[in-house]
Amino acid sequence: MLLCVARGAATQAPAPGGAIALLSSDGRRSLPTTMIGDQEFAGLDDLAAAFHLAVQEESGAITVAYKGRIVILTPDQALASVAGRLVSLPAGPVRSGRRWLVPLEFVSRALAPIYDVRLDLRKPARLLIVGDLRVPRLTARYESVGGAGRLTIDAAPRTPSAVVQEAGRLTIRFDADAIDAPDPLLAPQPPASLVRSARAAGPVTVVVELGSQVEGVRSSAEQTDAATRLTIDLVAGAAPAESGATAPAAPAGLPPALAPVRPALRTIAIDAGHGGDDDGVIGPGGSREKDVTLAIAERLKTSIESRLGIRVLLTRDADRLMALDERTALANNNKADLFISLHANGALRADASGATIYSASFARDAEEEARASAAPERLPALGGGLRDIELVKWDLAQSRHAGESAAFARLLEEALSARVPMAAPAVEQAPLRVLQSANMPAVLVEMGFLTNPAQEQALGSTEFQSALVQGIYDSLVRFRDRLAAGGTP
Ligand SMILES: [Zn+2]
Repeated sequence: MLLCVARGAATQAPAPGGAIALLSSDGRRSLPTTMIGDQEFAGLDDLAAAFHLAVQEESGAITVAYKGRIVILTPDQALASVAGRLVSLPAGPVRSGRRWLVPLEFVSRALAPIYDVRLDLRKPARLLIVGDLRVPRLTARYESVGGAGRLTIDAAPRTPSAVVQEAGRLTIRFDADAIDAPDPLLAPQPPASLVRSARAAGPVTVVVELGSQVEGVRSSAEQTDAATRLTIDLVAGAAPAESGATAPAAPAGLPPALAPVRPALRTIAIDAGHGGDDDGVIGPGGSREKDVTLAIAERLKTSIESRLGIRVLLTRDADRLMALDERTALANNNKADLFISLHANGALRADASGATIYSASFARDAEEEARASAAPERLPALGGGLRDIELVKWDLAQSRHAGESAAFARLLEEALSARVPMAAPAVEQAPLRVLQSANMPAVLVEMGFLTNPAQEQALGSTEFQSALVQGIYDSLVRFRDRLAAGGTP
C-alpha cells in the first residue's frame, strides 16, 4: 500500500505551484509551494528558515527539531512522530533534487503542536498565520428588491471597518492585520445589479464596484456575538430613458433600513480630541488634553448608553493618533445622528476660563456649492430613509446641517451653563475641519482652559467631569425630545 502511494507520487513530476502568504507580526512574506498530484507541498528548507527549525537527515529518517521538541519524518511515509505521538499527513516527504518537500499540512499537524506560538493554516485563503494576528474571515451576500439593494459583509471575529465612497466604488478598510476573503468575495452579479463586484484589493481592503445607477449609499455596522456585520444599503436613481420612467416606488419587502424613518437620536458619536503623538494642550500641572478628553468621552458613553439607551460611538477608545477625517468618517459610516467633539482650550493668559461650544461656519460660496451639489429628493417614496445620499462633497457635508448644529449648540449652552463655568461668548461659529465633514449635526466643545491652573484641576476632577457629563446628558434629552416631536431641534 505505502509503496503504491510512494510510486504514484514519484512518477508525477513536481508541477510549478503557487505560494502561500506567511503572516506574522514581522509582516507578510511568501512561502513558495509545489503541487504534486493533488497535494500541495512546501520545501522543508523554506519552513526551516521561516520557523527556525533544525533539520537533519540520518539513517533513513528526517528529524526536525524546534527548541528541543522533535518531529521525525520518514521519506514517502504519511505518518510522522510528533514529540513521540503518531500523526498522519496527507502524504509523506518527497525528495525533489536536493530538497525535501512536505505537504502543507505538515505545518498544522506536525509543526503547530511543537511550536510555541499559534500556527493557523488557512489553505483556502492561502494564508499561514503565525501568532495571534487579527485576520477576520469575510463572507458577503447581496440581496436586491426593486430599485434597492443590500450588501452584507460579515467579518469574524468582530472587526471594525471604515467605508469610503468614491466615484463608482466603495473602499472598505478593515482594522486588522490581514483579511481572509474568498476571491471574489461576492459571487458574480447580473449586469444590472447595483453591485458589480466585491473583492479583496489589498491586505486589509475590500473594493466594491457599484453600478452607475446607484445614487444613494448608506452603511452601518452591528456587532453580533462572533462577528461584525457591515450592512450597505444602495438605492438606484430614476430608470434611464424609458418612456414614462418614474422614480422607483418603494417596493414591498424593501429592506427595513430603507423604509422611511423619522429623524431620531439613535446613535451619537463622541470624539475625544487629539490622542497618540498629539497631546493637545498641556496644562501647567502636566495634564494632557488628550487624556482629559478621553476620560470624559468614556464617562459620557457609560452615562448615555445606560440611562438614555442611545448608542454611543467613540471615535477613539484608547490613546491613539487619529486623523480628523477618520473621526468624521467613522461617524458618517455609522450613520450617527449627532457628533460631539470634546476638547480643552489653551490660552497665553493663565486666567482665561470657561467652556465654549462651536458649530461649523462656511464661506458663503461653499454653502451654496454644497446646496447645489446635494442630491435632490429624487426618491420621494424613500423619504427620510436616505438622508445620507452622499453626493455632497465630504468637506462640505456639514453645511446641510448647519441650522441643526447651531440649534443643538444653543441647547448645549443652556444645559452646560447651569453646571459649569462658561466663556463669553459661550457659543461661536468657526470653520473647524473636524466638523465640516460631519454629515450630521455636529458641535465641538472646548470644556474649559487647561492652561488655567484652577480649571486644569477641575477638568481632572470627578466632580467637574460629572457636571459636564450631566450637562451634555441634559442637552441630549432635550434634543431627542425635539426630534421626536417632529420639529427641527
Ligand atoms: Zn483640542
